[in-house]
Amino acid sequence: MNDHYCRVCGLYLMDKPWGDDGETPTFEICPCCGVEFGNEDYTLTSIRRYRIQWLEQGTPWFDITKKPKDWKLVEQLQNISEFL
Ligand SMILES: [Zn+2]
Repeated sequence: MNDHYCRVCGLYLMDKPWGDDGETPTFEICPCCGVEFGNEDYTLTSIRRYRIQWLEQGTPWFDITKKPKDWKLVEQLQNISEFL
């Protein structure tokens, strides 16, 4: 499943943002898009709204030190479920 990926930006996360059962958010902040798991990614509407805002802002990283040198937005966005 896709439960290791941020629902907003598609970043791979070591700790599943919504826990092993997919229903227990960690309330950590995504180092890429800055979403708080369990908060702005709680509903489909809020996920899409947050993603659009992030894209419109030019996809700034919340924690720039975590950004890979060869980071590619298009590849990362492919990690997002087609339903999100
Ligand atoms: Zn993210």
